[in-house]
Amino acid sequence: MDNYQPVIGLEIHIELKTSSKMFCQCSASYFGKPANTQVCPVCLGMPGALPVANKKAIEWTILIGKALNCQINSFSKFDRKHYFYPDLPKGYQISQYDEPIASHGWVEIAYKDQAKNALTKKIFRIRRVHLEEDTGKLIHSKNGTLIDFNRSGVPLVEIVTEPDFDNSDDVKRFLEELQVIIRYLGVSDADMEKGTMRMEPNISLRYQISKIKNQKLPNYKVEVKNINSFRFVKQAIDYEIKRQIEILKEGKTPLQETRGFDEKKGITYSQRIKEKASDYRYFPEPDIPPLVFTKKYLDSIKVPELPWQKVERYVSLLGIRYEEAFILTRDKNLADYFEKINTKFKTQIANLNLKIQNPSQLIANYIVNKKISSQLPPDEFINKLIENLRPKEVDKNLLEEVINKVLKENQKAVLDYKKGKVNAIMFLVGQVMREMKGKVEAKIVKEEIEKKINKK
Ligand code: ADP
Ligand code: MG
Ligand code: ZN
Repeated sequence: MDNYQPVIGLEIHIELKTSSKMFCQCSASYFGKPANTQVCPVCLGMPGALPVANKKAIEWTILIGKALNCQINSFSKFDRKHYFYPDLPKGYQISQYDEPIASHGWVEIAYKDQAKNALTKKIFRIRRVHLEEDTGKLIHSKNGTLIDFNRSGVPLVEIVTEPDFDNSDDVKRFLEELQVIIRYLGVSDADMEKGTMRMEPNISLRYQISKIKNQKLPNYKVEVKNINSFRFVKQAIDYEIKRQIEILKEGKTPLQETRGFDEKKGITYSQRIKEKASDYRYFPEPDIPPLVFTKKYLDSIKVPELPWQKVERYVSLLGIRYEEAFILTRDKNLADYFEKINTKFKTQIANLNLKIQNPSQLIANYIVNKKISSQLPPDEFINKLIENLRPKEVDKNLLEEVINKVLKENQKAVLDYKKGKVNAIMFLVGQVMREMKGKVEAKIVKEEIEKKINKK
């Protein structure tokens, strides 16, 4: 990449699945509901309406902060962020400016580096996690633009990373890990198609000649807005890197701006010149008292076992390979399913006196490779598994019949074998296996054929 090193930071929005909205009693589940049916004076921004903060949303933001190894700030407050856009009925968004609920966190990603065949781990810092409200939704049609305010005021968590990334693959891995963490916490579906997880990468390039990492940030950055798939985030970043290198090579500086991503063409396009914080005229929200959290309250919010912790437990305590442990833990339901089977199976094999070297790995293989459907209830899964482990009963009569037929039809191979061409028997075994449709082990077939020919 010549001497240009990408600098990438992320802003991620997560819509919380609380039952009510952030500052009013309206239902927060707006998906598929008729437009403007879940609204009230508060989320429509009527003058005089008073917001009341949603306790659950605050608790869940703290939970996210904890899961991302953040410091939870015992004092926090809401601020008004002003801008004019038709999806924002009040003319300002209630957000958090200088006192976010959580800050100074980090997320570690781990992945198998195929080239080195080694486990690689990297840490990316989280700058802040704050709580705000979502906006309404604009619906563009040929007759004009309509607004649906059902989404207006739905709790929205913004997670901001430090500009620690230098390539789009790490960004994708980080976002995938973050999505799994959020789903484990049960605070959001983090579903990009439904818009409950939205991502904005910020990209710039710094010039670097020596091997020593240049720490100074470039004096510009380009933000790509509202991308709704991990693949598109990667594409948008890669496109921006190429585009910006071209500009820098001409001795110019790319414009600091907000760009959109065209999914069909795989390119970014200019949307608007980026606002500065001062343009938002932030000031403390006067209608909501500041948040003060006691230690007792913060301690009562407990983080469940996280995906990466499960991976570590599976590998170190259950002796499962990293690859399978990773796949099993991407979906908490699948991990729970695996663990249920794992516990039950271990007692069963003790009872049945079965000797299996590494039962956990065996189950992991069966689930990951879909050898048995993971739709089955655990008990049925185990029955199938045990059935598969038992040596197969062979229909002796059928086998004999098939062998007789194959030997008769392949006299030449039989003769060859008798003359000492040992390999000829493998051809006969193959023929029998084909007729038996694989329902018998090759070893048994070979033994039976040998017996027969030697008897003759
Ligand atoms: P803004 O106030 O414009 O939103 P911030 O400083 O809050 O900018 O940063 C927003 C995001 O941009 C963060 O994720 C941060 O890591 C990232 N960022 C900051 N500077 C750069 C840069 N020079 N290049 C790429 N990303 C950057
Ligand atoms: Mg920003
Ligand atoms: Zn409302």
